[in-house]
Amino acid sequence: MIPLAALRPLAGGYWRAPPLRFQSKPYGTQNRHPHIYNIRKRMTNESQGEHRRQGRIEVICGSMFSGKTEELIRRMKRAKIARQQVEIFKPAIDTRYSDEDVVSHDHTSIPSTPVDSSAAILLFSEGMDVVGIDEAQFFDNGIVDVCNNLANNGVRVIVAGLDMDYKGVPFGPMPALMAVADDVMKVHAICVRCGSLAYVSHRIVDVDKRVLLGETGEYEPLCRECYQKALSGRDAQASAR
Ligand SMILES: [Zn+2]
Repeated sequence: MIPLAALRPLAGGYWRAPPLRFQSKPYGTQNRHPHIYNIRKRMTNESQGEHRRQGRIEVICGSMFSGKTEELIRRMKRAKIARQQVEIFKPAIDTRYSDEDVVSHDHTSIPSTPVDSSAAILLFSEGMDVVGIDEAQFFDNGIVDVCNNLANNGVRVIVAGLDMDYKGVPFGPMPALMAVADDVMKVHAICVRCGSLAYVSHRIVDVDKRVLLGETGEYEPLCRECYQKALSGRDAQASAR
C-alpha cells in the first residue's frame, strides 16, 4: 500500500507518484524508465529468434542509400535459416541490376520475383511464412490491402521502400503502409555534405520525372539543412540564367 500522505496533488489536479523511498513493493515494480523498457523490448524481439510468428506487417523506410534493402535482406535471410518459406517481390519496373534478384547497393542479393501489380503478390504468396516486398513505393495503392490480407492470414510481411521522393513528398503507398504496419523502422543515410543523418534523396541531374531509378551519381542523400541550401542554390542559379 502507498501511504495516502505520499500522494500529493499537482497543480493540474493529477496525482504525482510518490518518491521512491515511500514505495511499497507492487508500486516499485512499475516501470519508471520507459526508454529502457523499449530498448529491452526490442532486444527481446530480436532474441526471440525466427520461429513462426503471428502475422504482422513490418515497414523499413528511408532515403536512398540508407540501407533499407540490406535490412530487408538481413531479415529474410534469418527467416530462411529458420527454414521458413520466404519469397521477395519487387515491382517489375525496378531492373537496375538484375531481373530476378533483389540487389542492394552493397551488392548482397537474394532471389526475388518481379511482379507488375500488387494483386500478383497475393497470387504468388500461397504457402509462404514470410513475404518481403522491396521498392514498395512503386506499387499501386492496392498493396495496402494485399499486406493487410497476408498479415491477417498469419503471414509476416516485411516491406522496404522510399518514404519520400526527391522533392520530399511522401511516396506512393508508403504513408498508408506505415500507418497499418505493426512496426516501422526508419533508416538513414549519411548527408554527403555535412555528415549528419540524411533525410531526403536529392536529385542532382535535372530531370523532372518522379520515377528515375537511382544510382550513385543521380542522387545524393542530404540532411534537412543541406537540402534547403541546395534548393535555394538551385533557385539562385535559375534566376541568374
Ligand atoms: Zn547536411
